[in-house]
Amino acid sequence: MKRIINLFTFCFLLSLVLIGCQDGSYVKKNKPLIVTTIYPYELIVKEMVDTLFTVETLLPPNASPHIWSPGPKDILKLGKADAVVSNGLGLEYNLNKTLTKISSKHIIASSFIDKKLLLSDDDHGSAAVNPHIWTSPVFLIEIVTGLSNELGKRFPENKPAIENNANRMVIEINQIANKIKLEKEQYPDAAIVTLHDAFAYYFNYFNIDFVGSVQPTAGKDPAPRQLQELADHIKTKKIKAIFIEPQMNPKPAEILAQELNLKVLQYDDLGTKLGAKTIADYLWLNWIKLKAGF
Ligand SMILES: [Zn+2]
Repeated sequence: MKRIINLFTFCFLLSLVLIGCQDGSYVKKNKPLIVTTIYPYELIVKEMVDTLFTVETLLPPNASPHIWSPGPKDILKLGKADAVVSNGLGLEYNLNKTLTKISSKHIIASSFIDKKLLLSDDDHGSAAVNPHIWTSPVFLIEIVTGLSNELGKRFPENKPAIENNANRMVIEINQIANKIKLEKEQYPDAAIVTLHDAFAYYFNYFNIDFVGSVQPTAGKDPAPRQLQELADHIKTKKIKAIFIEPQMNPKPAEILAQELNLKVLQYDDLGTKLGAKTIADYLWLNWIKLKAGF
């Protein structure tokens, strides 16, 4: 009898170890998995679901959604997910086919925003509008509210906690946006040039003059005539720095900066290198980076 009990105990412990080894903890094993395509949505969803879910981003930290394509592992990960959050508006162009196949668990952040506020755009070949909507406090509040409703519907047992967190996030976003607005008053002529047009909504909201981007099409080198035009604007507006993004090749910006004797500074539209703990923090840490160039 004792041997049977020992054998039973052994099997039970072994099963715990095996479950535990698969992903670090056996508690985590039972949590639903939400996969987000890009990091800003990981920040948003993580804060919203707290420790109730596992949240993972599909794109590696150094990848640009304009260029990156999924491999077999990524497609498997999307298949395993209980919900998938994407941006939409043509941002995840190379994922479109895969996302169509999992439409029942696919949540599109851009479906929650007021489309009238979208900016037209010729910087993103695959999209008629600028898809970087998570950089706008107005859109962020719409996205947080929309996601909270959607996740509450899909996971009703977690609805109260999700709603609570979402309400707090809206307050945080408003507070940080007001704090940035107040500081911005110290820089009435703030003007900026970036590598690609990734922060248009942020600049628009905080009344920062966006002079132009080095790459007229994201990921593609500019024509000499386009560079000359930008150089003229840079001189007129007395721009001091060109801002690059960690996920894009900085070379074209560096060449122009050297030519015009400008600084090269970095902001982070995808936020993978910022160290932000929340999406409000993401807005703030980017402000700190941007104001260094005014
Ligand atoms: Zn872009």
